[in-house]
Amino acid sequence: MLNGRCECGKVSFTVVNARNTVTICHCSQCRRTSGHLWASTYATFSDLAFLNQEGLEWYTSSETAKRGFCKFCGSSLFYRMNDELGIGIAAGCLESPTGLKLGKHIFVADKGDYDDIPDDGLKDETL
Ligand SMILES: [Zn+2]
Ligand SMILES: [Zn+2]
Repeated sequence: MLNGRCECGKVSFTVVNARNTVTICHCSQCRRTSGHLWASTYATFSDLAFLNQEGLEWYTSSETAKRGFCKFCGSSLFYRMNDELGIGIAAGCLESPTGLKLGKHIFVADKGDYDDIPDDGLKDETL
């Protein structure tokens, strides 16, 4: 089981059976909403249990997805496709040790021009 929370603690949760890899998205939307990168694991929504969701707010970021954040401290926490049963969970809000490994970089073509992604074979050039 993993524990996670926003910076101020007004959103906190536990999650079980999360994917054991972290995907780093370099798309422009993720860059803006996160401030740099959206690094996340993934779980079935029903495996996520909120301990506190007082601060949880959802931003409709496109016709197909929304992003969960804390309205008090601004932490980027979740990404959810409207038609999916799963939820992307920010790796940065999880308590260590997570046991997660870096999985892949996606939307690398959209990366910031200052960003130097290591050539470690983890870039998924199909996205
Ligand atoms: Zn917060
Ligand atoms: Zn993205």
